[in-house]
Amino acid sequence: MSRRQRSRIRVGISACLLGQEVRYDGGHKRDGLIIATLGRLFEWVPVCPEVEMGLGVPRETLRLEGRDDPPRLVFLETRVDITDRMNSWSRRRLKRIEAMDLCGYVLKSNSPSCGMRRVKVFKGGGPGRPARKGVGLFARALMDRFPLLPVEEEVRLHRRAARDRFVERVVSYRQRRERRLRKGA
Ligand code: SF4
Repeated sequence: MSRRQRSRIRVGISACLLGQEVRYDGGHKRDGLIIATLGRLFEWVPVCPEVEMGLGVPRETLRLEGRDDPPRLVFLETRVDITDRMNSWSRRRLKRIEAMDLCGYVLKSNSPSCGMRRVKVFKGGGPGRPARKGVGLFARALMDRFPLLPVEEEVRLHRRAARDRFVERVVSYRQRRERRLRKGA
């Protein structure tokens, strides 16, 4: 087995899930279960889109807004719309991520940047009742660029069966890639 095959499998993860204090309120969302289980198998590549694109900690709350699909990413108080800024940052960051040979990605649920399904989308600036139909902007860009990459949210990975399935998908993604590389060598 080559050195490359023996190396640990790299998987991207929302940085707050590893305990990094990058959330809007200066806190984190350390997920002990995922770290203890998947962390034994994978080498994590943490990414916090909001901090890496230059928003500070702490920062104003962001949320998804709009009736259109995709929705906009807007600061709640100042009403500044950072959709285009996030999208162009995501494109640049994903180009660099491509070179890192990731074989999977664990995303933070419910985040307007990282959530991959059922993120709250508000109709406008007011409180209103949000629809649970959004996808975080970074998550959307990630899944569009790597449609075959195994991606899952941390909440679903709390179930043993879902975790096992995710590991299988990640391992098989890596094996397929190794085969492609061998053929191309
Ligand atoms: S959910 Fe994503 S953007 Fe929000 S703090 Fe975590 S890593 Fe950063």
